Amino acid sequence: MSKARLATAWLGGCSGCHMSFLDMDEWLFELADLADLVYSPIADVKVFPPDVDITLVEGAVANEDNVELAREIRANSKVVVSFGDCAVTGNVTAMRNPLGDPLGILEAVYVNAPDRNGVIPAEPGIVPPLLPQVQPLHKVIKVDAYLPGCPPPADRIQRAVEALLAGDPSRITGEDIRFG
Ligand code: SF4
Repeated sequence: MSKARLATAWLGGCSGCHMSFLDMDEWLFELADLADLVYSPIADVKVFPPDVDITLVEGAVANEDNVELAREIRANSKVVVSFGDCAVTGNVTAMRNPLGDPLGILEAVYVNAPDRNGVIPAEPGIVPPLLPQVQPLHKVIKVDAYLPGCPPPADRIQRAVEALLAGDPSRITGEDIRFG
């Protein structure tokens, strides 16, 4: 039997959701028997691959690179999971939204701050332009399931991933994951 193809992606988040994923500890060995991790910040794959069965997406959509990756994920994944509160609601990443135009924030940090050289980093291909407002993932692409928490605890991630890999949503409680 061929293994499932699993991916995890990191958009505008702190990586805490991925740290919680790694906290599944020994179960990661069992996961390796069930699925190939075909894309992830912990696998250092550069291009999102085709034919992915399940993708966990950490983080909100904060810049143009996030939008591009989110669309690639949607086009190449059967099941997209909004993974953690930043993806589900915007959460910490969206705390800049009430401050308005992100250019004003960048000027405050890079131009007006006394320990900077007065230049907003803007090298093409290195610093992606910020979106005017941070968005939760489902505002940008269709999301199939939501795994809330900041971060979601490892045991809940395990139960949700196990059930999704088994194709058995009845094993998932409302606390673990919600379907969109
Ligand atoms: Fe970090 Fe919490 Fe956001 Fe996950 S949900 S990326 S742990 S701030």
